[in-house]
Amino acid sequence: MTREDPIDKKQQPMVSDPTRRVQQLFEQYVVPSYVRFPLVFERGMGPYLWDLQGQRYLDLGGGIAVTVVGHAHPRLVKVIQEQASKLMHVSNVYYHELPGLLAKRLVERIGPGKVFFCNSGAEANEALFKLARKFGSEEGRFEILTAVNSFHGRTLAGIAATGQNKVKRGFEPMPAGFRHVPFNDLHAIEEALSPATVAILIEGIQGEGGIYIADPDYLLGLRELCDKRNLLLLMDEVQCGQYRTGCFHSYQRILEKTEGQFLPDGVSMAKGLGNGFPIGAVWIRDKYADLLGPGSHGSTFGGNPLACAVALEVLDIIEEERLHERARVLGDWLLAELNRMRKRFSGLVQDVRGLGLMVGIELAPSERIPAFQRQPERGSAAQFIERLHKRGVLAIPAGRQVVRLLPPLNVTEQQLREGLVAIELTVEEISKEV
Ligand SMILES: *Cc1c(COP(=O)(O)O)cnc(C)c1O
Repeated sequence: MTREDPIDKKQQPMVSDPTRRVQQLFEQYVVPSYVRFPLVFERGMGPYLWDLQGQRYLDLGGGIAVTVVGHAHPRLVKVIQEQASKLMHVSNVYYHELPGLLAKRLVERIGPGKVFFCNSGAEANEALFKLARKFGSEEGRFEILTAVNSFHGRTLAGIAATGQNKVKRGFEPMPAGFRHVPFNDLHAIEEALSPATVAILIEGIQGEGGIYIADPDYLLGLRELCDKRNLLLLMDEVQCGQYRTGCFHSYQRILEKTEGQFLPDGVSMAKGLGNGFPIGAVWIRDKYADLLGPGSHGSTFGGNPLACAVALEVLDIIEEERLHERARVLGDWLLAELNRMRKRFSGLVQDVRGLGLMVGIELAPSERIPAFQRQPERGSAAQFIERLHKRGVLAIPAGRQVVRLLPPLNVTEQQLREGLVAIELTVEEISKEV
């Protein structure tokens, strides 16, 4: 790996300076709401990022499932330049062709319905919450059930919807109308229904929660339950969607072998949709697509021509190059390789799970890993990833114990292999420390 290049060794003494300067800017001027690794990136190309010292990193985190076609994709650079020189923004009090075309593309990939555009995943979920409230308003129903360990964004309603206490702490009182039930447990959700319940919102694959995949029977059961009880079934595909699992949305992949039609009533999207250009979207099933009528919802930037041009190009790239098929094949191979590693280091690697190129490696808790015991307050995932950085590979922690791999879908097998070697060497190194 590049780290071991003699040239890089020569650069080591100068390493801290420019990095420190940036860190100092943050310490002084940027709200410290993120836990950051001490890396300052300057540019990217494909699956690689370069820091200020010119050190190259293989980006297996994909900016948290965002860069689906990699960094600085030439087709995206071109489309951004062309559209920016034509028209970046036009108010939603007028029309533009691109949001219309993008909405059509999304509807064709999901099912009959309509699309609302916004700028992020949290905002996409907000639109789903408002849809549910509007749907239930005449009957006085408003309550949305979500899963324990879920993640739905950082707005006030987003943290109320999120089934993790750590995001809510200090921000009480929570907006009313959200309750959490165990994931993949149909019985629990049936038991939890109240006369006020109006919708169920779940992720097809829990991302921040640590890569937990919804069972096919769970999804089918939820659909049946929602039909029976007149509830909206809402899917948060912000992280697991956008072709990452091999199908456009993760529930389509999870249910590909089952007979018959499964269609949710609403789907939120963001992360990979614009490959890093901010865009969020909500698909709403035809029956409910006109509930958010004129004046009921909006977003100044939502559906702006530049964001829509990028998202259309991302879809074109993925579909023309059949990257979703690669995601499926490479994902299967990656899981098999990681499982082989898990068997070798079962004390350290507790589980490996995923679908397509959305993969989680669950490590033992830091208290049980001698190499990590000096910092018991830090999870094993963050400590592991810090070691991985030294080998020139990036990954994303999910909670304290899960290391997430969310690489671009056009990563090559050779590049993934390079990442695997670094992961396995890191696991080996940690397991040897006592
Ligand atoms: C990232 C994420 C969100 C929030 O998206 P933002 O763009 O950060 O607001 C919501 N839901 C899920 C499942 C996510 O992974």
